[in-house]
Amino acid sequence: MKKSISAIILIGLATIAVKSNATSMIDAPKTNLIDSAKKVVTDPVCKMKIKANASKTTIYNKVTYNFCSESCKQKFVAEPAKYVKK
Ligand SMILES: [Zn+2]
Repeated sequence: MKKSISAIILIGLATIAVKSNATSMIDAPKTNLIDSAKKVVTDPVCKMKIKANASKTTIYNKVTYNFCSESCKQKFVAEPAKYVKK
């Protein structure tokens, strides 16, 4: 009796692990798609809310950052580490 219960728990945990892996793999590209389409994002330099699809962008460490203007983008490009939260 005890053995079968722990087997069920193990199977349950394995299923949860597989499910959460699969979900994160499916969710990631979807989220990126929404990000670049019509999501409102924050300019990391001046903290202004801007529409992702209407903003200036740059890619740093494989992440796309959005800016309200060319001057904010230039500030970021000059010192990206200053504006990127780790
Ligand atoms: Zn800005």
